[in-house]
Amino acid sequence: MSQQDEEQANLSHSLFDAFLHAKRCKDVLDSFEALCRHLGLEHTGQLQFYHKLKSCLNYWSAKALWTKLDKKSGHRDYDQGTACANTKCLIIGAGPCGLRSAIELAFLGAQVVVVEKRDAFSRNNVLHLWPFTIQDLRALGAKKFYGHFCTGSLDHISIRQLQLILLKVALLLGVQIHTNVQFKGLVPPAASSSEQASGWRAILYPSSSPLSQYEFDVLISAGGGRFVPEGFKRKETRGKLAIGITTNFINNHSRAEVEVAEISGVARIYNQKFFQNLYNKTDDTHYFVMTAKKQSLLKKGVILKDKLDIESLLSPENVNPEALLAYAKEAANFSTNYQLPNLQFALNHRNQPDVDMFDFTCMSRSDNAALVRDCNGKKLLIGLVGDCLVEPFWPLGTGVGRGFLAAFDAAWMVKRWASGIPPLDVLAERESLYQRLSQTSPDNTNKNINQYSIDPITRYPNINLQAIKASQVRNLYVTGEIE
Ligand code: FAD
Repeated sequence: MSQQDEEQANLSHSLFDAFLHAKRCKDVLDSFEALCRHLGLEHTGQLQFYHKLKSCLNYWSAKALWTKLDKKSGHRDYDQGTACANTKCLIIGAGPCGLRSAIELAFLGAQVVVVEKRDAFSRNNVLHLWPFTIQDLRALGAKKFYGHFCTGSLDHISIRQLQLILLKVALLLGVQIHTNVQFKGLVPPAASSSEQASGWRAILYPSSSPLSQYEFDVLISAGGGRFVPEGFKRKETRGKLAIGITTNFINNHSRAEVEVAEISGVARIYNQKFFQNLYNKTDDTHYFVMTAKKQSLLKKGVILKDKLDIESLLSPENVNPEALLAYAKEAANFSTNYQLPNLQFALNHRNQPDVDMFDFTCMSRSDNAALVRDCNGKKLLIGLVGDCLVEPFWPLGTGVGRGFLAAFDAAWMVKRWASGIPPLDVLAERESLYQRLSQTSPDNTNKNINQYSIDPITRYPNINLQAIKASQVRNLYVTGEIE
């Protein structure tokens, strides 16, 4: 190798290392772009990109990752990356479930574009990982990006760290990710006689985004709990009022901080009793979830006035923020026996102390998991995943367990769609799986987690994929405009 070649190789290795270890969303995207530019690779939005990248980076640190990803991509479900080779997908939201869906669709060979309205991953809160999600993330090379990933008996991760891992995997597999781009709605295809573009497109903000011209035939909505795409209905459930507070303090890794033990809360709804305080450490923060009685919050002046309506009770106008911070700090000190000295609040995405208070029993779910829109002869398959489909009970951490199951189910649906199965059959199968989702737990899903794939039979025991018949989902096939 000439000296010049050697210098070029060294530069690509250090660019790859910078990407591997980047700790902020922006740094991941910037370092990845720099790597692609240096290697002269165009980031295409399809799996071929991954194969080109692999052939350019003959570097031990990258090779360990390729081994993992090659093993994954060789799974029979993906038909060597050809199963969805003619499918174009748009994914709304780069939360854990949007990104996890993007990865599966990329393995299936689809063209995948993700739009994310924010430009930073800032959620310090902790997600509890079911054993299959740990196994799944390991198989995607999580440890190569984040050495501390689930070491020993550790089974939790901060939301932002999880997003970083998935973002990196998605990029390597050719997924295009656009931050600071918000999905606003759909543009139905124009009639075929017109000269305009003839596929489904998105209304985006900013409208100048070149992605506004992108035509797709699958839309995966992973915009989180508050996002309801047109055509879907949500139901809200509320239990008896249970006020929870989540808070994060900076982890300075001092000796005292290392020594203080975590508290794994009893996170089950049982006889109307809720979880006890819960405390987890991450690399960045000390994360607490605590229950609080309304009376004690009124007494300490955190809630200003008692109100019957829960939304007004916990609305910002009825909460004293200073008193809430003091309450959260005192509760954290009390539950750790004052062993964490000098607690300092971490900041959230608004640059405010990271403390939230809300009614934990309020959760919503979508009535359906998918629908098809047909306009001017062009069909669009729309699927929901993650919190957009079912909001989790936070302390149970079901957000990612069920979120990943739904991401796999959605990818399976797209595979079936791409194979030419009639739309009503695809929808009926998807709804049959959705019926099962709210009952899933690590106890009643298949024990052989190494075998999990997008194929539902690998995950759900005795699943009946025809529990719902095509004739029952006719309302999910919408022709023309939605009224
Ligand atoms: P999210 O993680 O919510 O991601 C949705 C993404 O979509 C976001 O990045 C959002 O910016 C983006 N988006 C939304 N609308 C648009 C649009 N129109 N265009 C483009 N992008 C869009 N769960 C727990 O178990 N424990 C916790 O302590 C906990 N804390 C949380 C704290 C916060 C502030 C939030 C929002 C959620 C929390 N959750 C918690 C829920 C948990 O984060 C989710 O269950 C998990 O992240 C899976 O979510 P998701 O990918 O479906 O959605």
